[in-house]
Amino acid sequence: MQDIITLKVLSTISENGFSLDELVFQTRELFEKEGLAGFVGLILRLADEKICMQIVQGKPVYNQVACCSEARYEYQGSLSRRFRTSVGTVAIKWRRLRCCNCGRTSIPLRDFLGLDRYKSKTSELEKMVTEIVSEQSYRRSSNHLDSIGNIPVPKSTAHRWVAQSDCDKMDDSDESFDMLFADGTGFKRRPDKEAKINNRGELRVALGVDKSGSIVPLAAFSGKSWDEIAAAVQCQRQNGKPVADMLVSDGERGIAESFAQLCNFHQRCHWHCVNDLNYTMWQDKAKKDERKQMQKKLTAIIGVELPEEDFEMVEDSDKEVLAEAVADAEYDVGKLIKKLYDKGYVTAGDYLTRASKNMFSYARRWLLTGIVGPRASSMIERMMRELARRLKRMAFGWSEEGAARMARIIIKRFTSAGQWEKYWKKKLKINGNVVLVLRGITADDLQPLGR
Ligand SMILES: [Zn+2]
Repeated sequence: MQDIITLKVLSTISENGFSLDELVFQTRELFEKEGLAGFVGLILRLADEKICMQIVQGKPVYNQVACCSEARYEYQGSLSRRFRTSVGTVAIKWRRLRCCNCGRTSIPLRDFLGLDRYKSKTSELEKMVTEIVSEQSYRRSSNHLDSIGNIPVPKSTAHRWVAQSDCDKMDDSDESFDMLFADGTGFKRRPDKEAKINNRGELRVALGVDKSGSIVPLAAFSGKSWDEIAAAVQCQRQNGKPVADMLVSDGERGIAESFAQLCNFHQRCHWHCVNDLNYTMWQDKAKKDERKQMQKKLTAIIGVELPEEDFEMVEDSDKEVLAEAVADAEYDVGKLIKKLYDKGYVTAGDYLTRASKNMFSYARRWLLTGIVGPRASSMIERMMRELARRLKRMAFGWSEEGAARMARIIIKRFTSAGQWEKYWKKKLKINGNVVLVLRGITADDLQPLGR
């Protein structure tokens, strides 16, 4: 049916003229029966006809490379192709030309469009599917696609597209960031009794924040140690170039050990220091009142405020006062630690001893560089909570790689540096040329007629 309609339109355009009524009638029939996909197909057929005619006539065509020095082309049949797109399936036949001199064949429309040999879907559809899939379950996604515009993409197909795409690729620049954050979150993975793998997977993420405050995802893995992740993030940077100026960590074992050496400074998250003091004292069987009291004390000690003015505006004497305040605070933390040990709270004492080494890096860094940095890792924690929530809503029994891949897509989409759009911009190759073709007549064309 589609052949008849589109060919009819083609012949009315190319032969004995047509009436306006006929054009409207045929266009409506095309849209009703074939929708937008039929229209895209029609444009492609027209393009195919024009391109092939030009080549046979020996005129140059975009993206067409001559097969030999004395190429002469003749028409040699046509091939059916179908493409999945967001407006439906576009079905066309494109012509094949053969060179009478060297015998090589080519498909001019495919070359013109810059399509891979096996391309069967548009990138815009792939982007749409990936975005829908990264927000809900695969099953619901394919229903959703079905309902938004006749896009029959079954669950298994959507799943395969996401698995085969490289849209989850992380930042591979050698930039040194202002901040580095790392955190982990649990998810339900596919258990394997024989391999002794339980269902508790952990997703581990590292994010960089650049000078302008944009968040750039650096790594997201499941089933990898923090050491391995740190090595992956470091390896792009030559000669020990730091990954970031300052690491902000929550004190989880492994993160600091693996990442601190990749940064100039390391700040322990203050919120965690206070929170984990409660937990470790609880492990030491301290009473609730006492735990609260110690937390209050610690909060008061570590809250050393930086001046609000710009670094240059602050008097040297005031900087000295701040340096002294930091030294005093460190001394007070030491006293607090001693108190914990005296009372037999060894777990809490050990915890605070470790944490105290990097409690005031934010102030030291400011004194050295004038840069104000965060004292808490709340930014990445919000991100990890959102990540966990989404993964849970999408599916249970993730494979390690499947969960990590989806995590990469989600954080790429939701971090501020626009990496997601950047990736697709490259892939979609939208540079305004099609708008000109569809308009047919440009503003410039109208100028001589006296608009
Ligand atoms: Zn040739």
